[in-house]
Amino acid sequence: KVLLELDDISFSYNEEKQVLKDISFKINEGEMVSIVGRNGAGKSTISKLVCGFYKPTNGKILFEGRDIANDTIKERCEKIGFVMQNPNQMISNTMIFDEVAFGLKIRGFSDDEIKEKVYNALKVCGLYGYRNWPISALSFGQKKRVTIASILVLNPKVIILDEPTAGQDFKHYSEIMEFLVSLNKQGVTIIMITHDMHLMLEYTDKVIVLSEGKKVADDSAINILTDKDVIEKANLKETSIYE
Ligand code: ADP
Ligand code: MG
Ligand code: MG
Repeated sequence: KVLLELDDISFSYNEEKQVLKDISFKINEGEMVSIVGRNGAGKSTISKLVCGFYKPTNGKILFEGRDIANDTIKERCEKIGFVMQNPNQMISNTMIFDEVAFGLKIRGFSDDEIKEKVYNALKVCGLYGYRNWPISALSFGQKKRVTIASILVLNPKVIILDEPTAGQDFKHYSEIMEFLVSLNKQGVTIIMITHDMHLMLEYTDKVIVLSEGKKVADDSAINILTDKDVIEKANLKETSIYE
C-alpha cells in the first residue's frame, strides 16, 4: 500500500534557482527508505514540502492516496513525524518523561493517557529506565532517541529523519541505525534523508537518489541499485560519511 507519493513536484524558494524539478516517487507502508544526495541536492526541501512548511510550485503530494495540499502543518504532523537535523534544547535539564510528554500535553491528553503513551514510547526507544533523568545526562545516541520518542508518542504513520547520523562516530551511528531498524520492524515507515550513504544502503529497503534537484535514480523491482551506482549517480564520494 502506498503511504506517501510525490507526483511531479517542482519547487523554488525564489526566482534565482529551481530547487526541485519534476520529482516523483512512491513510498510504501512499512518501508525503510533513504533519500540520498549531495549537499544542496534538495533533500531537506523535500521534507519541508511534505511537512507543509512550503508549498510546491507544481505537482502533488499524496498521503494514503489523498492530496494533502490543503492540510495544515498541524494536521500533517499527526501522521508525519519529522525529526530535524539539529534538535535543540538537548542540553536542558528537562526530565526525559516531560520532554516526551510535551506534545501530548499541548494536545490536551489526560495525565493517565500521557503516562501510558509516554511509557510506551520510552520502552520502544530503550529509554524507560531513564525517564526521570535530565536530557543533559544522556549520550548523543540517547538524545536522538528522545527526539524520536517525542515524535513516536504522537503515533505517526511515517517518520522522516533529516541527516539522523550526521557528524557522529561509528558507535553512535550504529546505535541510531539499529534502533531505526527495530522501529521499522515494529511497523513504522521510515524515511531517512542523508548524504552519508556509506552504511545507509545496508540498512534500507529502497534508495532514492537526488542530484541538483532531480531524481536521478531509484530502486525498483527490475533495478536494484548497488552502493557503487548510488555513489556515482549522486556524485558522492565514498568517504563522505565522516566529513
Ligand atoms: P540538501 O538538504 O540536499 O542539502 P536543501 O534542500 O537544503 O539541500 O537545499 C537545496 C537548495 O535550496 C540549495 O541550493 C540551497 O541553497 C537552497 N535553499 C535551501 N533553503 C533555502 C531557503 N530557505 N531559501 C533559499 N534557498 C534555499
Ligand atoms: Mg544540506
Ligand atoms: Mg539537508
